[in-house]
Amino acid sequence: MLSRRHLLAAMVLLVAWPAAAQERLKVLATFSILGDLVKNIGGDRVDVSTLVGPDSDAHVYAPSPADARKVADAKVVISNGLGFEGWMSRLVRASGSKAPIVVAANGIIVGKAGASGEADPHAWQSAANVKVYVANIRDALIAADPAGRDTYPANAAAYLAKLDALDAEIMAAIAAIPTDRRRIISSHAAFGYFQEAYGIEFIAPQGVSTESEASARDVARIITQIRRLKIPAVFLENISDPRLMQRIAQETGVRIGGKLYSDALTGEKGDAPTYLDLMRHNVKQLTAALRN
Ligand code: ZN
Repeated sequence: MLSRRHLLAAMVLLVAWPAAAQERLKVLATFSILGDLVKNIGGDRVDVSTLVGPDSDAHVYAPSPADARKVADAKVVISNGLGFEGWMSRLVRASGSKAPIVVAANGIIVGKAGASGEADPHAWQSAANVKVYVANIRDALIAADPAGRDTYPANAAAYLAKLDALDAEIMAAIAAIPTDRRRIISSHAAFGYFQEAYGIEFIAPQGVSTESEASARDVARIITQIRRLKIPAVFLENISDPRLMQRIAQETGVRIGGKLYSDALTGEKGDAPTYLDLMRHNVKQLTAALRN
């Protein structure tokens, strides 16, 4: 027989369970790396979804109608900015969303790349820049969900400490690479901030976006540089077609140092399901290829 106490307990469960689920703040991040940052800062208070998923290229992303629905459902949208998501403003208009669109990179010192001096959007490639991202995300979450005003700063502080540790770890790892070997080739110019922060020079046949392919002249220039500068390794990227790099490696006899994660995390089972894993993976690959 169902006692009154049991009945009451059952009712509490029925009422409390969906309510708890509903209370989570719906946050949409434009790509996987931002999604991970939002999860770390939002914790249990947020329900995070992303547009551009793992191992996918945000530069050339084509949003779907389902993406417009995700934007419409979100209470807060977190974007990178700096021209990374060129498709974003049209998508937001199409969705009819009135949610705040937060630019996570707001406040960083913007790097320029290429002959045209384009703004480089890949600011997350420096842990110090990600501290700015974290502060922007924290403030946006507090604004959208004031009841989390204690939780978000606490989560952010814990994550900032991890970023400091990561930054020191990268510095130490790079310091162990001989200075004349701190130079590599990557597919597209995604590592300008890494170069600036940690002192490894990246040379790329493609510009800051993957939208335009490297020309024959770009490739010839890279091959000359590899020979002239005795560059020890070329690297593949998880979001780029490996064939161009394979061809360059073949023509110059330089080895492929491995795969770098530039603009996207991997899936859960990959080497870089989180931002911290991504940076550690890249540093491990660079160190292994360049130390000797
Ligand atoms: Zn990129």
